[in-house]
Amino acid sequence: MNYTPDFEIEDLLPSMKKRGLGKGAPRYPSLREALETVPKVHGHICTASYLGTRMGHLAVRLLTLKRKRDLVAAVEILTCAADGIAAATQCSFGSGRLVFLDHGKFAAIFGNLATGEALRIKCTPGVDEEHIAYGRQLERFYRIYAKGDLEKAMAERKRLQEVERELILKWHGMSDSELFIVTRVEVDLSKLMYPLEVQYIALPQRCSVCDELTEASRLKNGVCRLCSGDFEIIELEKVEI
Ligand SMILES: [Zn+2]
Ligand SMILES: [Zn+2]
Repeated sequence: MNYTPDFEIEDLLPSMKKRGLGKGAPRYPSLREALETVPKVHGHICTASYLGTRMGHLAVRLLTLKRKRDLVAAVEILTCAADGIAAATQCSFGSGRLVFLDHGKFAAIFGNLATGEALRIKCTPGVDEEHIAYGRQLERFYRIYAKGDLEKAMAERKRLQEVERELILKWHGMSDSELFIVTRVEVDLSKLMYPLEVQYIALPQRCSVCDELTEASRLKNGVCRLCSGDFEIIELEKVEI
């Protein structure tokens, strides 16, 4: 593929000046700034991403954080909420500080790695009910859609968009305590983080079968997970780019 850089990358890169090392408490996005980020990564603001943004925004105000890297966020369900949490907390999958816990619960744990303090945030029963009632209607839409009745499906989708909009407008007028229940919890925060000391960049080793550089801790008897059959990828052909 032809690629010609048409902008200077320099301005986008971090600098010591911009970072302001040792400047005290980190600044997190305002709720508005976080919500403006959501559509950029998630594609839209929906019920779950809105609630996730509010959860994350609440967490960064409740935890006494001295450095951004001290915050870890663990979402207990895979929904749009994860992207809202990421926008508000700046905890990302790539930084190892946004973790997915497959509990199937609309809740999240936020921890301060420096102090060990941790909070679990979930919705109040009323908000949960409203969210689930909307979810049930959404599920009905998917059933109509799957049946192939596109006209009916589109009409239902349009109606649901209005329901979703009303719900978000209502929640936006509600206080944190009307939306959420926050509990101080004890949890091993190190278990909520990707073990950064084994990062690829520092200590990789070559798999004795495929010869690809691999994190040493991911090799078993010198063989990577792909070559040992833990996860199969069948290579078809090299793509010309
Ligand atoms: Zn969404
Ligand atoms: Zn291998």
